[in-house]
Amino acid sequence: MEWMMYIDGKWTKGEKEKTFDTINPFDGSVLASIYESSEKDTLDAIKAAKYSFYEDRKWRDLDSQTRGDILLKIADTLEEKKDEFAKLEVLDNGKPLREAICDVDDAIHNFRYYASLIKTPQGGVYEVNEGFGKMHSYTIHEPTGVCALITPWNYPLLMGVWKLAPALAAGNSVIFKPSPYCVLSSIKLFEIFEDVGIPKGACNLLIGGAEVGNILSSSMDVDMITFTGSTKAGQSVMRNAAGNVKKIGLELGGKSPNIIFADSDLEGAVEWAMLGIFLNQGQICSAGSRILVEEKFHDEFVKRLVERANNITLGNPMNNPDMGPIVNETQMNRVLNYIFIGIKENAKLIAGGYRYTEGECKNGYFIKPTIFDYCDRDMTIVKEEIFGPVVTIQTFKTEEEAIMLANDSPYGLAGAVFTSDGAKALRVIKEIRAGITWINCYNPCFNEAPWGGYKMSGIGRELGVHGLEEYQEIKQININLNPGKVGWYEH
Ligand code: NAD
Repeated sequence: MEWMMYIDGKWTKGEKEKTFDTINPFDGSVLASIYESSEKDTLDAIKAAKYSFYEDRKWRDLDSQTRGDILLKIADTLEEKKDEFAKLEVLDNGKPLREAICDVDDAIHNFRYYASLIKTPQGGVYEVNEGFGKMHSYTIHEPTGVCALITPWNYPLLMGVWKLAPALAAGNSVIFKPSPYCVLSSIKLFEIFEDVGIPKGACNLLIGGAEVGNILSSSMDVDMITFTGSTKAGQSVMRNAAGNVKKIGLELGGKSPNIIFADSDLEGAVEWAMLGIFLNQGQICSAGSRILVEEKFHDEFVKRLVERANNITLGNPMNNPDMGPIVNETQMNRVLNYIFIGIKENAKLIAGGYRYTEGECKNGYFIKPTIFDYCDRDMTIVKEEIFGPVVTIQTFKTEEEAIMLANDSPYGLAGAVFTSDGAKALRVIKEIRAGITWINCYNPCFNEAPWGGYKMSGIGRELGVHGLEEYQEIKQININLNPGKVGWYEH
């Protein structure tokens, strides 16, 4: 099949018909050749979305009930093709099949969730003062306009759906640009969009990297940009968006603390800590990459964590090992470089720490689950987001010290607390400056609940009701219940 972009209701090889290869990270083989969008293609997509929203208006003017029904059809088709989507995600991204199946399930439910939400009452009625006479004051929610959506490669399908489902539900015209590292599932998703009859121009798919992203974030014709990715790129998006004061949503990086008190259930804390950092090969923005363990529990906890981490299986992600490969060679080398820095800075490497090339993994980008003990707050590996299966361990003596260390980061995306003392759990979690937190678990994520970061982890919230409102403007309407003269100038 030819992997193309989708602009103004047409599949196209783009102006230059230029392609690049995408690699299967399990064995380094070429998976597909993909057409790349040029500047002209990008401008064409913006033009198409603008025409669709402001002139054609077919999608925007469709009543919400019908738009919701179309989203339900997307969900149903995705469900029929679940196997195909999950396998494509495995081949392209390297995540184990059972994780990819969960991602597709979440994507299906996300479409269903926003399909229902857009059918529920929007806006509200306000009690206002009668300074200018009796007024009926209420709000309506309207689509924002032309929305550019940019996503990373770690959850290629799901990160896109988190934006596409609410943006489309709200009636916007969208231009979607996934990470060029993993675009195959996005292309397949747009085939579904075409099949269910989303009008031309209302959904456009561009394929490319920062150049395309820059044009989108700078364009005076784009009304909103929502970006998920690294904080550095997010800062650039924010600067560019200032040109026409676009609405922005930013879901950025993290370096999240996982606090383990000595009164935790040992096996539970160890397993969740592993899920926190080794799921998706640690390529999760909310990863619990900084374990903070109470000093008196340190030896027992760390011993068990290392035992279990060493038992993690690596292999062909299609056969459901515990971990698959890192997404590509560049990312693998980036993670290995951090491991090298950790060793150089005298953190104690107690598990993994190297590329794994045994047996069927010989040509893949595998990294053994890696644990650094006796880390301190000045180390690079404690401060910077590694985005791989690498966790650091620090110790604390008191609740106050745990909170101080947890918040000792410019990021504020996620965090967790493990303890059997309910009041302590609530006290500590309230002090964590982060948008997504857990008590006695790590990483579960729900379509219904808002997702986003404090501090340098972002602006705004995805998912839940907030995730829909991100893509809506709220208009206040005030109706004079006694039309006619006020007499203001007759004093
Ligand atoms: P990245 O910033 O390199 O790229 C993300 C996306 O932005 C890609 O589509 C890329 O092509 C595009 N891009 C890159 N530079 C750009 C620029 N200057 N202007 C516009 N677009 C640009 O990130 P990545 O390596 O793809 O993903 C990993 C990062 O994403 C990590 O930092 C991770 O924490 C973050 N992330 C955050 C969340 C969240 O919900 N907060 C979720 C997933 C990933």
